[in-house]
Amino acid sequence: MFFYAIFTHMPKIAYHKIGDILLRPFRENFLFFMALFILATCPFIIKASISHLINGALLTAHCLVVTYLVTLAIGFIQPKFLRKLIQGLIIGLSLVDFGINLYCVIRLGYFFDADVVRLVLGTNSIEAREFLSSMIPLWIVLVVAGVYLFFFALWQYSLRHNINLGKKASITATGIVVLCAAVNAYSWRIWGEGPIHRLVELCNYSVPESLKSHYCHPDIALQDNNQLPSHVVLIIGESFARFHSSLYGYEKKTNPLLEAKRDSSTLFALDSIDSPAPTTIESLKHMLTIYSKADDNNPNAKKWFERPSIIEIMQECGYLTYWFSNNAKGSRYTGIATMFADACHQRWFLQQEGALRYNVHKDMILVDSSSQHIRQTDPMQHHFIVYHMMGSHYNYNQRYVDEFAQFTEQDYMDQPQDHRTTLATYDNSILYNDYVVEQIINMFKDTETILIYVPDHGQVMYRNPNNPDYFAHGNNQDPMSYAYGVEIPFIIYASPLFQQKHPDTVERIKYRQNHPKAWNSDDLPYLIMDLIGVKTIEGKDIKEKSILN
Ligand SMILES: [Zn+2]
Repeated sequence: MFFYAIFTHMPKIAYHKIGDILLRPFRENFLFFMALFILATCPFIIKASISHLINGALLTAHCLVVTYLVTLAIGFIQPKFLRKLIQGLIIGLSLVDFGINLYCVIRLGYFFDADVVRLVLGTNSIEAREFLSSMIPLWIVLVVAGVYLFFFALWQYSLRHNINLGKKASITATGIVVLCAAVNAYSWRIWGEGPIHRLVELCNYSVPESLKSHYCHPDIALQDNNQLPSHVVLIIGESFARFHSSLYGYEKKTNPLLEAKRDSSTLFALDSIDSPAPTTIESLKHMLTIYSKADDNNPNAKKWFERPSIIEIMQECGYLTYWFSNNAKGSRYTGIATMFADACHQRWFLQQEGALRYNVHKDMILVDSSSQHIRQTDPMQHHFIVYHMMGSHYNYNQRYVDEFAQFTEQDYMDQPQDHRTTLATYDNSILYNDYVVEQIINMFKDTETILIYVPDHGQVMYRNPNNPDYFAHGNNQDPMSYAYGVEIPFIIYASPLFQQKHPDTVERIKYRQNHPKAWNSDDLPYLIMDLIGVKTIEGKDIKEKSILN
């Protein structure tokens, strides 16, 4: 009644005024409206459309409404030069965002983030150019350039001619926006895939001061306090595709040393295991904490750093914790690994900082730098040692010393010519990885040691028929690319002393090697707890999520 009274008594002139204001985005700021819609929201619409065409349509409606509201709001800014300045700034940022996000969405399946930066920075300038030219198809460059040119020409034209819509067209356009708003209200959840949600996410992107400040001291029950193995070792590899390991049947002998260990029954290669993500940060976040992949889609779940990490769990069990990394330390913003390292009792970052941070030391530095320390560890104490390798991080040919350059283009004559060098250098990096992991294992062969080697994720290595020239990280949007990108090897080593003291555990590992089970290394902390004899954590039986069960 109240509103009815207002509307029926509102003078006609007020209707006109409101109408004029609502039409403004089309009658006065149409160029800004169009540019903002295409540049700032198109990559989102494309991404949604790839997953489902209806999603794409719903998101288009959402983006139209958002663009309209932003254009409307900016129209109120006075004086005019300030408004123009803000419009220019927004369009400038959108131009950059458009180019980068269009590439990331189409080529990688996710928006620009720290992993993309890492991918590009992990190369020197010549390689970066080669890498990008192999990864950026010419058509994307042409599309982006074309869109830039189109808006530049339109802007030049608008300086001399009026390109705003007329009254009738503006009323129609506003009607369409109102319709879209109604659709949007009905399917409001779609905003979660749009630009506003991403902005909110970026603003809320929280990196904790330290993991320690979020320690929650979980309740951990052990089977027997006196049975904890003295040494637990976790080797985190990098970009190792299971398909390229001779431990899993690859025809080239890329893992001769680890195969020999398997044949002597100290090493076990478990099959059918995936990493939680095809990229480093996402993967480590899941692998090193009991935060699970299911939590990603649960708005009520605690954040990953609020859940117990493997470092905290081992410390709670009485282990001294050490982190040896052949990665640069960086900051807590650039690398999640640094946060886990900082939570350890002691840590060593062996790679250079700055521009050379991916390309100086080969992984053998991990053995050379830690061997004396390992020899001196007190056998009466318990030790949890993490090695974080450079592994097969792109650029592959920088990951090994010359004597490991065993595979050459000649060994890949059945492959397309422009794939051969990459395949050869990749396999050489796996061969060198084999040597380094074996050397690390040898440091622990005379102690009571259980050791796990697991890479953060794999690499596609030209196996995706939908994108046959692509070799790097798996694409979240393409199921086949994702599947290849998360296929990883998973290796457990049990020293003779460990085998002697824990025959039951070793039997369970052997059984799993012979009877593979699909498992995700998301649940790695549960396996480690299982291996050292933890019964429950926070009242939950750890066996439920351990692969040995
Ligand atoms: Zn990685």
